[in-house]
Amino acid sequence: MKKEYKIAVSEYFYSLQGEGITTGTPAIFLRLTGCNLMCGGKGVEHDGIMRNGATWVCDTIGVWQKGTTWSFPDLINELNSCTDFIRRLRSGVHLIITGGEPLLQQNRILTFLEYLETEYLLKPIVEIETNATILPHKELDNRVQFWNTSPKLTNSGVTIEERLDIEALKWFSSNPKTMFKFVITAKEDFHEIQDQLIKTSIIDSSKIVLMPAADSIDQLLERNQMVAQLCIDNQLRMSTRLHVEIWNKLTGV
Ligand code: SF4
Repeated sequence: MKKEYKIAVSEYFYSLQGEGITTGTPAIFLRLTGCNLMCGGKGVEHDGIMRNGATWVCDTIGVWQKGTTWSFPDLINELNSCTDFIRRLRSGVHLIITGGEPLLQQNRILTFLEYLETEYLLKPIVEIETNATILPHKELDNRVQFWNTSPKLTNSGVTIEERLDIEALKWFSSNPKTMFKFVITAKEDFHEIQDQLIKTSIIDSSKIVLMPAADSIDQLLERNQMVAQLCIDNQLRMSTRLHVEIWNKLTGV
């Protein structure tokens, strides 16, 4: 594997983890450029109109479609000045590598984490947020503490061939560091998870977290009770969306 000491980044900020089992944890977000899916349906990125049966749209398309390729020393200088990067990670703040789909750059992520160890004697607590369509390398898995996966359903408007990779899903399911976070807009979404992923033993239901699809406080309040009831009835964990609760439609916070 040829090592590249550079990585394409769309944005970075210091905040709190807003979703999943580490919700509320102080974290530095590093959003990498590019995604292999288009939730909302292909074309939504041009006109905002949902297609292919989508009931929600990716709320960061405009962010991950743009980015800058940084050398590691330049990126760390930048992150230090904006987020106090090295000092915070040393004191236990999580590093959340998100996207887009960050595993499109998994070799670069691994080299970056190795670089932090070599140059700064730093092994941060790492969360990677992925759509679970790409199998991670073992070397990367060794440096990750949380795999926050979010497999996509029919409601994403993405074809089943693009959004479900059975081999990757089974690998994630057998990994003790994995959580499967599903975005729910209606009860039928959970029936789909049951039929396609639980009953077929592709994923372990104890790792599932249901989260309402919502990009505004109004939508979150509207869907919270429906998702809560699904979780109660099926003994599953629920996640809210802390960022929406606190900052409503604002991104990058
Ligand atoms: S996989 Fe994630 S980043 Fe990519 S389009 Fe879907 S929601 Fe957005």
